[in-house]
Amino acid sequence: MNIDSIENGTVIDHISAGRGLKLYELLGLSTVEAPVAIMLGVSSRKLGRKDIIKIDAPVPVDTDVIGFFDPGATVNVIRDGVLVEKRTIGMPERLVNVIRCENPRCITSCEQELDHVFRLTERGEYRCVYCDTKAKIR
Ligand SMILES: [Zn+2]
Repeated sequence: MNIDSIENGTVIDHISAGRGLKLYELLGLSTVEAPVAIMLGVSSRKLGRKDIIKIDAPVPVDTDVIGFFDPGATVNVIRDGVLVEKRTIGMPERLVNVIRCENPRCITSCEQELDHVFRLTERGEYRCVYCDTKAKIR
């Protein structure tokens, strides 16, 4: 795989430096049956340093996961060597089954089949829709 050019695939760019590996894990990219390149600490005019993930196959990525973990990242979709889509993710309004509520008294801990749903508050935090517990990892 030539990491500079991808014919058909996805490039997650402008990842905050130091978050690339964790994002790779959260997106479950180790199970993708295609070459994946992670570049850490790449020089960036905008960010100083950034991380980049390149997936050399047209696999879908969960943009809610990206938006939760690193909303400034951009997702570039490449088809036949041409950039066909470029978008900044931003923070999603709702997260469904991206993170789990950690409150042991939350209804989601006894009702296993319930979706774990978090909503974005005006203060830019994610809170469980059932018990209002604030989401941790960021
Ligand atoms: Zn909860």
